[in-house]
Amino acid sequence: MGLLKKYITMFRTDMKEVMSRRCGLDELNYFIIIVAFILIGIALFSSKVIALVLGVACVVLCFVRSFSKKVEQRAKENAFYMRYMGGIVKLCGYLKLCVMMKIKSIRDAEYVYFVCKTCGQIVRVPKGRNKVNIRCPKCNTTFIKRT
Ligand SMILES: [Zn+2]
Repeated sequence: MGLLKKYITMFRTDMKEVMSRRCGLDELNYFIIIVAFILIGIALFSSKVIALVLGVACVVLCFVRSFSKKVEQRAKENAFYMRYMGGIVKLCGYLKLCVMMKIKSIRDAEYVYFVCKTCGQIVRVPKGRNKVNIRCPKCNTTFIKRT
């Protein structure tokens, strides 16, 4: 078992080193994956070959970008994408965090979790206080929420 663990650790450090010199999964690649999923989904339901071809092309493109050695070039593409889509990417991240915190609040018997709209900080408030004025500890924004 000790040997296996050693090999796993070696593999992990190697992968980390390989990926540190590669582009990896940046925001643009996430977007390409989502587009690929949608296209393949369309292909499955409508049996349109063109959607399948485009979907597979997106997957290939994502792989090529992830393992590309031209990190600078890929970073430039990502910066270009973020200049136009950055707001939407941030909004999606915020909404995802809100949903996660909503689920956490339902599971937690004592606390309600909120996400600060300005900085994304998670704020924990005791349950059953009705309407409270919450101040974000990170950026000092205040917002009123029902707990
Ligand atoms: Zn904040």
